[in-house]
Order: sequence, then C-alpha cells, then structure tokens
Amino acid sequence: MSAQIVVTVIGHDPALSEEFKGEITTFLRGLEDVKIDSEVELSARAQDYFLSTSQSVSNLRQMLKTVESDNSDIIVQENSKFRKEKGLVVFDMDSTLIYQEVIELIAAYAQVEEKVAEITERAMNNELDFKQSLAERVGLLKGIKTATLYDEIKQKLRVTQGVPELCRGLKKMGCKLAVLSGGFTPFANHMKDVLELDFARANVLATENDPSQNGVEILSGHTIGDVVDGECKAQTLLELAREYKLPVESTVMVGDGGNDLPAMGVAGFGIAWNAKPRVQEAAPSKLNTQSLLDAFYIFGFTDAEIAALLA
Ligand SMILES: [Mg+2]
Repeated sequence: MSAQIVVTVIGHDPALSEEFKGEITTFLRGLEDVKIDSEVELSARAQDYFLSTSQSVSNLRQMLKTVESDNSDIIVQENSKFRKEKGLVVFDMDSTLIYQEVIELIAAYAQVEEKVAEITERAMNNELDFKQSLAERVGLLKGIKTATLYDEIKQKLRVTQGVPELCRGLKKMGCKLAVLSGGFTPFANHMKDVLELDFARANVLATENDPSQNGVEILSGHTIGDVVDGECKAQTLLELAREYKLPVESTVMVGDGGNDLPAMGVAGFGIAWNAKPRVQEAAPSKLNTQSLLDAFYIFGFTDAEIAALLA
C-alpha cells in the first residue's frame, strides 16, 4: 500500500541541517503506528517524508509541533494526486500577494492614518466586525479624487517575493489563479493584470461626480454590492471550482488573515502565509519563509522540477 500521508519540512535557512533531519526521522520512527516509506529531498531546505499510518493528518500535525523549530515549517497532508495536481489557487491580496495593506496606503494618501488605525484597533478587539470596520474606514475616504488616488496607490504596491514565479509556474501547469481581496477592485484588478490571474474579486468603491470641481470623479464614502469577507471568499472559491469544472480537492487558498480561514476550510488545502499565530494555528498549513515560491515544496515539487517549470 502506498503512503497515506506526506510530511514536508521546510527550513528558513539555506539548508536543513543533517541533525534536524535526523531529529525528524527519529521522532517519526518513534510514533505509534507510523512507518516511513521514503524520504525525498525537494531542496537543500525542504524534505518530504512519506508515511504509512492510520494516524490522522490533524493528530500528526499536533504531534509534530513538538519538533518544529522557529526556523522551520512542518506541513502534514494527505498523499493524494491532488497535492501536485492543482486546478485552482486562490490568493488573498493584502500581506499575501503584496507586502502592504492597501487601506493603510490609502489612509496615508488621504492623511487619515490615525483614524483608520483606531478603527483597525477596534476591529481587532472585536468591537467591530469586518463589514462595520470596512464601512467606517471607507467613510473616511469620502471626497477623495479617484484618478490620482488609484494611480498613486497602484505605483506603491510591492509584490511579495516569489509571487510572479509561483503564478507563472502554476499557470504553466494549467492551474487557474484568482485574487479575492477584502480591499478594493481598482487594486485587485491591477494585480490580476500584473500577474495575469484569471479572476479578481474585491469591494467596489462607490464614486460620484463633484459639481463643485467640474464634475471630477470622487469617492462617495461607501462600497457597492456584497462585501468581500471571509464567507464571500469561501463561496467564491467554491463557485470558481464549479465554473472551471474542477474537483474541490484540487483547490488551495493562500492568505494571512482570519478572513481567509473560511476559504481554507472549504478548499482542498490552505496555506497561512506569514500569518498571525491564531491564523497559523487554525489553517491547514503554515509557511513563514521569505518567498511564496516555496509553496511549490508544499505541492511536492523539487528544485529541479520548479526550475523546469519556470524555464
Ligand atoms: Mg491579507
């Protein structure tokens, strides 16, 4: 019988030490009802351990926490063909595809940073839900001229290391790519264009023409339509899988926020990317490295296979 579970160890340093790899092997061998079928080196800093076991993924994940260092991520998943055969990868935008939070960039532009920070703080303390905090923050942007705002913010967006290569490699495999953002459409659509993604959904900022400024377009301080929150991200991921006629097992959600967890829950797999501890804990896996290209290790690709895909 083939291995049911694969454990992937990804180090944050350029190479996993022999000592650490030995520790993992010894630990896995010491577990009840676990047999290591094979070890595969994906990279100098990433290693797969294929296990025959009747232990569950979540049990193994809990147990492996005791050997995980601050310098490594240990990913436990079922060893199915869908690990490698990805049909749809959905990304969060802020602090995932890009390093920044767009609302903070807009707040700085509009010089309402303190007010926005205060609302964010209240949201973190659970005094406001996502919809309320979005409404309050967008309310602060009323009257801003859209043309210059959009141009200026787009220029400031910094794509996360490894993202262009990851997207290019996945697309070459025939995988569909989407961004679902709790931010705003001008910027999500911009990233869709830059990274050649298949789909983007974000909140729509309402605009109006200001008669006192020769009818120039300004923000009216609210959003139009459904707010893109955690539930919306989950539903959209499922809709996309249906539309593209893909098994949900072949879908992945990648994000850093609590509002990415519902989509991770319905997707075939989920990756918490440099996320808050609470999100890392609740997500199917976590990745705290420098480059999102390392997601390919989670999908079971060796350095040589990644290089061939990107060639
Ligand atoms: Mg985010």
